[in-house]
Amino acid sequence: MSGGPESNKVVILGGGPGGYEAAHVAAQLGADVTIVDSDGIGGSAVLTDCVPSKTLIATAELMSEVAGAAELGVNFSDSEGDAATSLRVDLGRVNARVKRLAADQSGDIARRLDKDGVRVVQGRGRLDGPGRVVVGDDSYDADAVLIATGAAPRTLPTAQPDGERILTWEQVYDLTEVPTELIVVGSGVTGAEFASAYLALGVPVTLVSSRDRVLPGEDADASLVLEEVSKRRGMTVLSKSRMESVTRDGDVVTVTLTDGRSVQGSHCILALGSVPKTDDLGLEEAGVILKDGGFVNVDRVSRTSARGVYAAGDCTGVLMLASVAAMQGRIAMWHFLGDTVHPLDLKKVSSNVFTAPEIATVGWSQESVDAGEMQAESVMLPLSGNARAKMQGVRDGFVKLFCRPGTGIVVGGVVVGPRASELIHPVAIAVAESLTADQLAQTFTVYPSMSGSVAEAARRLHRF
Ligand SMILES: Cc1cc2nc3c(=O)[nH]c(=O)nc-3n(C[C@H](O)[C@H](O)[C@H](O)COP(=O)(O)OP(=O)(O)OC[C@H]3O[C@@H](n4cnc5c(N)ncnc54)[C@H](O)[C@@H]3O)c2cc1C
Repeated sequence: MSGGPESNKVVILGGGPGGYEAAHVAAQLGADVTIVDSDGIGGSAVLTDCVPSKTLIATAELMSEVAGAAELGVNFSDSEGDAATSLRVDLGRVNARVKRLAADQSGDIARRLDKDGVRVVQGRGRLDGPGRVVVGDDSYDADAVLIATGAAPRTLPTAQPDGERILTWEQVYDLTEVPTELIVVGSGVTGAEFASAYLALGVPVTLVSSRDRVLPGEDADASLVLEEVSKRRGMTVLSKSRMESVTRDGDVVTVTLTDGRSVQGSHCILALGSVPKTDDLGLEEAGVILKDGGFVNVDRVSRTSARGVYAAGDCTGVLMLASVAAMQGRIAMWHFLGDTVHPLDLKKVSSNVFTAPEIATVGWSQESVDAGEMQAESVMLPLSGNARAKMQGVRDGFVKLFCRPGTGIVVGGVVVGPRASELIHPVAIAVAESLTADQLAQTFTVYPSMSGSVAEAARRLHRF
């Protein structure tokens, strides 16, 4: 429980993973903890971004699996025994489930905070100097403040969401009927995930990408597989196509490109990146330096330039993931409250793109190896040769591993395939614990299993 009369006072702005995970740590270490949150405990991660999108994607995955059932010998028929003609998703029910699940998750987090003795204040907070937070007429003195206010979807003056047909990723869960033709603008992680999910839900999708390939920030071989699979399944991918504007006329949405071409559809999702919520928080007045784009500048133990003010999560722009936000928040509290702390190491972060197939990565990338930033040997093993993959009708995907030439220590990896988010874990352990490829290879895997390919890839890195 937090709080004795002598305890350190910690005030946290923002109840997302950056904020609530920090609160748990601070409470555990005996601090008196207050979280101020304006939009709901769990933050965007739980209420509008991560949890809702992955819940929608769970339905999309089921649709994909069912669509591939015939190959495994399963046919669907109606009550007369005639072949059923199509699968249909009830988007109203799917989105009701999404919202219910997000609200439940938010409730669970709030209950745990309450159990830990964390005070939750609902409202918009701002700093009044480095050691005080103001919420409406109330103020809270703090020995340390953590800024974890997150980020919001970026929009453009020429592409304004209307909440009905031109949508940010936060607004898609109000749809009750499937779009007849969806245009997704932006081929980063969020754009690629929504395009892939709606395609699986049976919606014709056009993905507008300003770059020459989708997921420009990910492993190039992985992007290639995703683009090939998406096109094969019917997605239209417009590469090197920069959006100029998005307009709506009745039921028709038009995306105009900078080269004069245009695409029409019934709905458009804007996935143009995020802007930090750092305006009007009293940050600069409190001595907190902001970087380009308004992100809070932090070091690897989450300190800002103002003494006693820490920051975590999307508002820092370090790596916009819930897992990283949570770790930055915990690190801030371990540091402030004098517990053992290891600075944030981005090379140990495993991340996943929840497309079909999924793309999971950890550690050093192919790009860094090619650029000579890290000397590494690599191997890339297609999943198509894996016995379990064959049984399950899986043809697309691969395991790629990087290891140091002399020692064989595993420094990175990429897995592309179904449930890559789970398969990356042994590679993440190897990277975190500096295991060698031989150690990874000598660990038993279940036969038959997809993880057998991780061990097999490691075996191929063996040197005499
Ligand atoms: C569509 C989508 C899918 C994603 N999927 C994943 C995923 O699968 N895995 C993953 O790891 N990451 C995912 N992310 C990223 C993840 O959602 C973010 O990295 C995460 O939300 C960051 O957490 P945070 O605590 O910094 O901020 P948030 O979760 O945004 O929480 C910040 C909270 O602070 C509140 N707030 C803001 N200003 C104030 C103020 N002045 N006073 C009080 N409260 C305030 C906000 O309202 C919000 O509740 C996804 C992002 C998007 C857009």
